[in-house]
Amino acid sequence: ELRPIIAQWRTAGERIAFVPTMGNLHAGHLELVRIARERGGCVAVSIFVNPLQFGPGEDFDTYPRTLDTDREKLAESGAADLIFAPGSSEIYPPGFATAMHVDGPALGLESDFRPHFFGGVAIIGAKLLIATLPDIAMFGEKDYQQLLVIRRMAADLGLPIEIAGGPILREDDGLAMSSRNAYLDAEERKVAGQLNLVLKAAIARLRKGDAIREVEVTAETALKAAGFDTVDYVAVRDAETLTTIEDLARPARILAAAKIGKTRLIDNMAV
Ligand code: AMP
Repeated sequence: ELRPIIAQWRTAGERIAFVPTMGNLHAGHLELVRIARERGGCVAVSIFVNPLQFGPGEDFDTYPRTLDTDREKLAESGAADLIFAPGSSEIYPPGFATAMHVDGPALGLESDFRPHFFGGVAIIGAKLLIATLPDIAMFGEKDYQQLLVIRRMAADLGLPIEIAGGPILREDDGLAMSSRNAYLDAEERKVAGQLNLVLKAAIARLRKGDAIREVEVTAETALKAAGFDTVDYVAVRDAETLTTIEDLARPARILAAAKIGKTRLIDNMAV
C-alpha cells in the first residue's frame, strides 16, 4: 500500500521526506514533521513500536500506543501526507531471520546498558528506509547516538538518503520531551527536570577548562544528589564519532542516561 503512493509522488517529481516514530506523538515529533515538510515536500510518518529494540524486562508492553490521537495531531499539523502504521507481523513476518550488527557509534553508552538496542534500531531503520526510499529522513537529536548509528548504517549500506538531525524540544523546565515522561509521578517529574540543568552546569565547567573526567564524575554525583536512583552514564564524547576525548579541540557532545524509579531518561547537549 505504501509503495504505490510513494511511487506516485516520485512520478510527480516531488521530493520525499520521512519521519520514523514509535507514536505517542508530542511536540518534539511534530517539530521533526514540520522540518521534514520544510525540507522535503511530501512527508511520510511511520508509527511502529519496534519489539526488537526492547530488551527483556523493558517497557514494550506498557509503551503508550495512541494511534487515534497521533493521527489527529498529524492532521492538525498539516505537515504530514501519509501515516504508515504497520502491524508487527507485516514488519517481522513468521520466519523472519535477519539481524544487524552495528559497531562504530553504536559502541558504548546506550549499548553498555541496552545491548540489544542498536541491533533492533538498525534493522527497523533499514527496513523503513528501504520501504519508503525518501530523499531525506529526520531523526531527533534527543536520541543522539541513534541518529549517528542510523547515519552510519545508511552510509554503509549505500542508501541514497540524507539522514538529518532535528533539535531537541523541551518542557518549560528543560526536560527533554519524551513519551516515557508520562511514567513519572509528580515527585519524580521534579527530579527529572534536574537532568538538563546538571548537563548545562557540566558544559559551563568544561568551557571554563575543567578536566573532562572530573566533570563527568561530578555530574554523576550531582544527578544522584538530585534524586536519580541510578546514573548509567554521563559522558563527554566526540560529537561525530562518540569516541572518548581528552580535550575540546573538536566538536564535543555531553550525553547522559539515568533512572528515576522504573523510568529511564536520556538527554544530551552540544558542549
Ligand atoms: P520515538 O517515537 O521516541 O522513537 O522518537 C521518534 C523520533 O522523534 C526520533 O528520531 C526521536 O529522536 C525524536 N524525538 C523524540 N523526542 C524528541 C524531542 N524531545 N525533541 C526532538 N525529537 C525528538
